Amino acid sequence: MSESRAFCPRCGDPVPERSSDQGEEAADPLRPSAEVELCDSCYFDEFDFVDAPERIDVRVCSQCGAVHRGNRWVDVGARDYTDIAIEEVSEAVAVHVDVADVAWQVEPEQVDENTIRMHTYFTGVVRDTPVEEEVTVPVKIARQTCERCGRIAGDYYASIVQIRAEGRTPTSEETDRAEEIAHDIVADMEATGDRNAFVTEIGETDDGLNIKLSTNKIGKKIANKMVEEFGGTVNDAETLVTEDEDGNEVYRVTFAVRLPPYTPGDVIDLADDDEGPVLVRSAHGNLKGIRVTTGERYEASHDEGASPDARKLGEHDDAERTTVVTVEDENAVQVLDPETYQATTVARPDYFDPDAETVPVLKSRAGLHVLPDPEPDADEDEDKDEDDGYYDPYEHDPNTDV
Ligand SMILES: [Zn+2]
Ligand SMILES: [Zn+2]
Repeated sequence: MSESRAFCPRCGDPVPERSSDQGEEAADPLRPSAEVELCDSCYFDEFDFVDAPERIDVRVCSQCGAVHRGNRWVDVGARDYTDIAIEEVSEAVAVHVDVADVAWQVEPEQVDENTIRMHTYFTGVVRDTPVEEEVTVPVKIARQTCERCGRIAGDYYASIVQIRAEGRTPTSEETDRAEEIAHDIVADMEATGDRNAFVTEIGETDDGLNIKLSTNKIGKKIANKMVEEFGGTVNDAETLVTEDEDGNEVYRVTFAVRLPPYTPGDVIDLADDDEGPVLVRSAHGNLKGIRVTTGERYEASHDEGASPDARKLGEHDDAERTTVVTVEDENAVQVLDPETYQATTVARPDYFDPDAETVPVLKSRAGLHVLPDPEPDADEDEDKDEDDGYYDPYEHDPNTDV
C-alpha cells in the first residue's frame, strides 16, 4: 500500500479506508481516482448534485406539438404542454456522475398559460451518503408554427400525382388504392423521423384523381407503386415554379399515371379476331387473359401491349349464375339464357365443370358465354399456375413486367 493514497490531496488529512471500498476496486493501483481521492469533507465541499439551467425556453408548434431543438423541429410525442415541460427538464438537467440510485420527482405548477414552474426533487447516494436536492426550473413556452405545419397551412406541394386511365376513368378500386398508397408511404416516412413528408391534398377530377404531395420523392414512389400493382405507364414532367431565396430554380414535378384500358375481370371483344371474347387476367406488360369460348390462353402482342384494339363487353362481376341444361359434346353445352330462360347452346370452355348444376354466364353484345367461377377450388386445380383458368378478383398478378 502506498502512503500517498492515505492522505487527502486537497487538505492533507488522512483519508480513512472507506467501507464501500471493498476488495479489488480499492486496491487497484491503476485506478487514477484512487490516487487523487479527496477526503469526504473536501469532496462534499465541492460536490454539486444537480446542474440545472435558470430557466428553459421552449418553442412548441401549436399545431402539431413538435418542439424546436438545436436548429430543427422534433416530434416528441407529447400529449400536452406539461408533458413537453417534463421532457425539456429531463433533457436539460444533469446529475453528478458519481451519484448512484438517482431518482427524481417533478411537480409542475402552471403559473400562466405559457409558464410552468417545475419543482423537481432529486435523491441519490454518493460515498455511502444519501444526497437530495430540490431545484425549481421555470419553463417558458413559446407557441409557434413549425415549418411543416406552415407548409400544410399554405397548401405547399412539390409534386402532383395524376391517376388517369386509358379510354376510361379509373375504377374506385384504383383510386382508393392510390389514396391508401399515398398515406402509407407518408406514414412510413414519418415513422423514420422524416418531418417533410405529407399529403397536401387529394382531389377528384372528371377523369381521375390528383394527389398533391410535399416532395417529389413521395410522388415518384406513389406513381411507381400504382404501375407496379395495376400496370400502365408513368410519365413525369417538371414545371419551373419559382426561385428560392438563394436563386435556385424550384421545380414541381407532375407524375402522370396512365392505367391500362382494361383491368383484370373485364371481358373484351378483340377487333379482327373471331376466336371469341377474352376474360382479362393481367394488364401488366402485354394484356393477358383467357378465351371464354375455349379457355385457351390469350396474350396480346408486344406492339399491342396492354391496349389491343378491342371493345369491352362487360365484367366478371356482371355474370349471372344460370342452370346447366345438358352437356352436348366437348365443344358445346346448353344453359338457360338468364333473361329469356330459353335453353341455349353455347361454347364449352375447358374450365367448364361437367358436374356443375349452375355456372356463371355473361350475356353481352357478343352473345352468351360461360365464365370461370370466381372462387377457385384449390383442391381441384391440377395446375395452380397462370393456366388455372380462374380469375381471382382479390389478387393482382404478381408477375410484373413493367
Ligand atoms: Zn480533504
Ligand atoms: Zn407543427
